[in-house]
Amino acid sequence: MSYDREKQVAIEAAVAAAKLCQQVRRDIPEAIEKKDKSPVTVADYGSQAVICKALGDAFPNQPVVGEEDAIQLRQPKMAEVLTKITNYVRELIPTATPEQVTGWIDRGNGKVAPRYWTLDPIDGTKGFLRQDQYAVALALVEDGEVKLGVLACPAMPVEGSKPGVLYVAVRGEGATMVPLAGGEPRSIRVVSAEDAANFRFVESVEASHGDQSRQNAVAKAVGITADSVRVDSQAKYGIVASGKAALYLRLPSPKSPDYREKIWDHAAGAIVVEEAGGRVTDMYGKPLNFADGSKMVNNRGVVVSNGAIHDTVLATLQER
Ligand code: AMP
Ligand code: MG
Repeated sequence: MSYDREKQVAIEAAVAAAKLCQQVRRDIPEAIEKKDKSPVTVADYGSQAVICKALGDAFPNQPVVGEEDAIQLRQPKMAEVLTKITNYVRELIPTATPEQVTGWIDRGNGKVAPRYWTLDPIDGTKGFLRQDQYAVALALVEDGEVKLGVLACPAMPVEGSKPGVLYVAVRGEGATMVPLAGGEPRSIRVVSAEDAANFRFVESVEASHGDQSRQNAVAKAVGITADSVRVDSQAKYGIVASGKAALYLRLPSPKSPDYREKIWDHAAGAIVVEEAGGRVTDMYGKPLNFADGSKMVNNRGVVVSNGAIHDTVLATLQER
């Protein structure tokens, strides 16, 4: 089974959404508070609208499980925000109306199925607001296995060019990266076991999204002496996949021990790392479960590595 068409549609949609996000960021977005108190911006909504429209046109029968919904946006007091979102979407889809925009966003409220897409229209919204890293993350899942992942990181530095990287992986076909500004995709590989002197480890900027003291203790115990590199969003997966770090640890925060990871925060990143030769499991070595719902209820924490050090990291985690 080839995923050429899915890949092409997903790449075009993610690149368009990344453009919208960068445009919003140049205009300095404001944070809107969601019901769960987390921030969202006009770019999160615009990105979900653009991507769900593209997926709906190309694959009308395939559900999209996305992070955002348009419930809040339909309230009369949000009319001004909806107008703003629509104006950004119109830079890509000139005929878009506010009703269409809310409809496209709500197309992203599908359920996990034998074949579905999962979307984080802006992963790392806090990083986006801080002018740091963020990602547009889109993945196709079949029978619980991620088959295709597209991860746009518009703020990722590129040597000798303007920032912005697109990571793409198809199951069994390897992982690539290409500057968002254009160019030839090149294959990426995780850092090899022989390169241990250059091992680094990445974790979230937001301390409340993990357990930084335990993460740092484990990294030191497996021989990574350099300080952690703190990065927002699934950009961390891109960093491991391209060999710039050997390890990404995301251990449950002591402040929210009952938090469950969401599928859209990991699906696209996970396949990019796996296809670059790395490994992704939860903190007990279990595969991440993309088959049952938007929350990975039976997984705890996430461990992402170059593969070579994975078992050592898991063993160390049982001890500390
Ligand atoms: P990061 O940028 O890697 O810190 O991850 C951002 C993601 O963290 C957001 O998309 C949220 O879904 C997720 N998140 C929110 N609260 C928590 C938490 N308590 N533990 C782990 N992840 C969280
Ligand atoms: Mg997210």
